[in-house]
Amino acid sequence: MRDPTRTAAPRRRAAELLVAIVRETCGLLVPLECPCGSEGRLLCEDCAGLLASEALRVEAVCDALQLVQDVRVRAGEDGAPAGVDHRPLLPVMALGEYAGPLQDLVLAWKNGGRAHLVPVLARGLAPAARALAAAGEEPDPGRGPVLVPVPSRLGSRVRRGEDHTAQLAAAISRRTGLPWEVLRGTLGEGQEGRTARQRRRRHLAVRSGSLPRTRREGAPVILVDDVVTTGATLRASAEAIGRLGIEVVGAVVVASARLPATRTFP
Ligand SMILES: [Zn+2]
Repeated sequence: MRDPTRTAAPRRRAAELLVAIVRETCGLLVPLECPCGSEGRLLCEDCAGLLASEALRVEAVCDALQLVQDVRVRAGEDGAPAGVDHRPLLPVMALGEYAGPLQDLVLAWKNGGRAHLVPVLARGLAPAARALAAAGEEPDPGRGPVLVPVPSRLGSRVRRGEDHTAQLAAAISRRTGLPWEVLRGTLGEGQEGRTARQRRRRHLAVRSGSLPRTRREGAPVILVDDVVTTGATLRASAEAIGRLGIEVVGAVVVASARLPATRTFP
């Protein structure tokens, strides 16, 4: 009978060697380093904690999302001071401010090679997506909203499957059970500086998007994006989708250029 201790040691050495080779090879592809610069792990504890923080409402600080509700030249009879009342177009929820480690994480994710961040980002944003879905819930619970990624910017737009916002929407979908759909076309780009013909073409591109053909036709939409600054892209997307007769109940984004002074949670 063979002595098991005589074969166990070489096997263990072979296993250790294999692990070392894998580690080295992976190290060549993705350095064993968190996007914040801390070494030894692909995602350090601090950054993991950052991505696990509760999403907060940021639409109040997105200038392009404000709709004028009321304009008073002088104080109203009810005592309201002269001024302009605004109401945000839609609720927007973000994991934090686009600065410091969160900015490093977003850039590492957007610039590729950090696919391991996608499920972590999705885990952070899933409660926000669920909260927005619950707020916009229809009587039939099976017809909750559809997650729609805002297309990547012109120039960096790549085919489906490599689009980072689409990957995030898919990952949030896996966590929440909400369906997701890609809208083809140039939905996310602003209208500024475009000729009427270009605008018309853009509108046609949106109209031929995949959403109206979905099995969930007419279901409301939650937009998914990486960073919100003024909210102009979310507004353009929401208005384009609105022209299709589809309601946008909110947006989830990883980071916001600004945070409100008083934090509001859903
Ligand atoms: Zn880190």
